[in-house]
Order: sequence, then C-alpha cells, then structure tokens
Amino acid sequence: MVNKQYNITVFPGDGIGTEIMKEALKILRLVADRRKIDIVINEGYIGGSAYDRFGEPLPRQSLDLALQSDAVLLGAVGGQQWESLEYNLRPERALLGLREKLGLYVNLRPVVVFEELLDASPLKREIVRGIDIMIIRELTGDVYFGQPRGVTKDKNGKRKAFNTMVYTEEEISRIAVRAFEIARKRRKNLLSVDKANVLESNELWRSIVSEIGRNYPDVALKHMYVDNCAMQLIRNPAQFDVIVTTNLFGDILSDEAAMLTGSIGMLPSASLGQDKALYEPIHGSAPDIAGKNIANPLATILSVALLLRYTMARPQEADLVEKAVSEVLQDGYRTQDIFQEGKKLVGTEEMGKQTLKKLAGLLN
Ligand code: NAD
Repeated sequence: MVNKQYNITVFPGDGIGTEIMKEALKILRLVADRRKIDIVINEGYIGGSAYDRFGEPLPRQSLDLALQSDAVLLGAVGGQQWESLEYNLRPERALLGLREKLGLYVNLRPVVVFEELLDASPLKREIVRGIDIMIIRELTGDVYFGQPRGVTKDKNGKRKAFNTMVYTEEEISRIAVRAFEIARKRRKNLLSVDKANVLESNELWRSIVSEIGRNYPDVALKHMYVDNCAMQLIRNPAQFDVIVTTNLFGDILSDEAAMLTGSIGMLPSASLGQDKALYEPIHGSAPDIAGKNIANPLATILSVALLLRYTMARPQEADLVEKAVSEVLQDGYRTQDIFQEGKKLVGTEEMGKQTLKKLAGLLN
C-alpha cells in the first residue's frame, strides 16, 4: 500500500503564535519521523503579520496553501497595532475567511481537566475532577448566517434589528453523523442540546438528530434544553461525554465549558469540513506576553494530537501526545499561567522540550 502523503499548512500568526508553534511542530515532526508518516509542511502568513507583508490578513498565496493541504495548523492572530484597521483588514477576518473557504462546518472543543491542574478551576475540585467532555458545535448555519438580517426604520424613525435562525435538514444531518461517529469512539453517550420547546429550527434539529440516531443503536442519545445544559455544566460537568449543539448555543456553551478548566493555555480545538480541517488553540495571540518565552505551548501541542486523531486517523499517537502532556504536568513542570507554589516554573521552550522528551520515550 502506498503511504499517504499529508500536506500540512502551518500559520504561526501573530503574538505568541510563532513561539508556541515552534514547539508544536517539533512534536508533529517527531511523531511523523518515528511512525514513518509522510508529511509535507508549508509555512505561510496570516493575520497581522500577513497584513504587514502583503496588505491583507488572508493573502491569496496563504489561502491557496490552505486549500491545497489536508490540514491547517494555526497559532493565533491579532494585536493592538492592527485594531484600528478597517473591519475587512483586521487579523481576525482571516479566520472567518479560512473557515468559510475550507468549508469547515464542525467545531470540536475537547474540555479535559488534568488531575494535576484541578486547582486551576474556579469550581471546587470535587466538581471538576474527571471532566472529559467533547463539545461539537455546528459552524456554518443558525442565526449567524441566516437571511434575512438587518436593521430597518419604521415611519417614525424607530429602528428595528432582526436576524433569522435557520437550519436545513442537510446541515443538521451532516453534523449529527459526525457527532455520532465521534461519540462511538468515546464513551458512547451523545447529548444533543437545543431549545426545541420554543424554536422551530431547533425542533427540526431535535427530530433529525433523533432520526440519524437510529443508525447508531450503540450510542445512547439524549436531548437537553440549552438553559438546563448551561446549569448542568456548572452543577455536575463530569456527567457529560459528547455534546452536539447549534452554532449560537455552541458558541456560548463551549466558552462556559472552557472556563471549567481555568487554564486557557491548555485547550485545543479542531474545525472540520468534508476533507479539510483546521487545528488551533482556543486562546488568542496574547500580545501581553509575546516574545518573552513564557507562553504555554500545550494547547497548540494538544491541537497536534487532534490533527493526528482526525486528519491522520492515528488515535494511538494522538493518545500518546496527550499522555506526554499529562506526564509532564505530573512531573511538576508549569508555565506561568498554570503555575502553583512548589512546582517547577518553566518557559515556552522548556515546556516544549520536556513534552518532546516524554513523547520520545512513549513512542519507543
Ligand atoms: P488571549 O487569549 O490572547 O489572552 C487572554 C489572556 O490569557 C491574556 O492574559 C494572555 O496572556 C493569556 N493567555 C492566552 N494564551 C496563553 C498561553 N498560551 N499561555 C499563557 N497565557 C495565555 O485573548 P485577548 O487578550 O482577548 O486577545 C488578544 C488578541 O488575540 C486580540 O487581538 C484578539 O482579537 C486575538 N484573538 C485571536 C484568537 C485566534 O487567533 N483564534 C482568539 C481570541 C482572540
């Protein structure tokens, strides 16, 4: 069998992006080398650094690179020096452009609380212990894209603003299939979150998710209203396995769930399309700490684990990367953002180096 070649586009981006990406790439290269995975890595510019060079945040050559690749690995974009630019030239516009052009309709946010970091959570240890949730958010439909939308004025000059919450059968079924497939590879519990009691678009969501569920008798499907889910995430988050939800509710619930861990520098994400994908940490470019070798590279390293799992179908290697991170934490290494008294404070490079060393051992 001919070994598939994977083309990976890397966009370090702005701020801490270059520092964290350097460490993450060492991890990817080590796995590829040890497991004889054929990868080609192309680096490009995106965000503010692309604007400075090419006058736009997502230049044609960067978009072409992304379109020709199997996956994109992204650091972060943004910074104060670009905040006064007109809306379409701002670094963050590049992300929206990429998501749209790559047809990414599924957003995955794993939320895992490492035993070693229980105290970083704003909630009590006993509430967050054992959290391992996968939040799956639909990315292209719902009120964010629905037409008509706009602002009108009535005859007295009073303004009215409106948006349309809309979902098609096709949009719901394709994400439902992805959600069941992912749940099947985990603990086989899928919770679909909606507001079907008051919204027709969500009533359709619920009925289609249930229909698709008949093809997955091995996965236990439940439904929950979003208001209850928001409460349950705080009351008893360890009850959740996989949550699938609409664009609007997913936007809110995924940030709520991220806070359960209390450590933004630890959380990766994946956005998947039909045959394209984008992997990135959930945090931004952290301009306040850029260039100081203190940023936490683990969210980007954990994004590499997702890339291995979802683009390269290498679940065992993905597990090993996650295990290496966990063991480095067990050994007491901490970047400043997750530091506690009595632990070993290290910088970005050292954290990357320790993780690489662990992984090298695990891959033997
Ligand atoms: P941020 O996530 O960059 O930073 C928030 C806080 O968390 C800061 O104090 C920062 O130092 C800290 N932090 C973030 N990542 C860290 C890491 N890996 N290690 C240690 N500490 C970390 O959010 P912000 O400050 O609101 O935004 C800064 C810039 O990033 C803005 O221009 C914003 O638009 C952009 N942004 C980009 C993305 C993205 O690229 N996907 C996401 C969010 C924000």
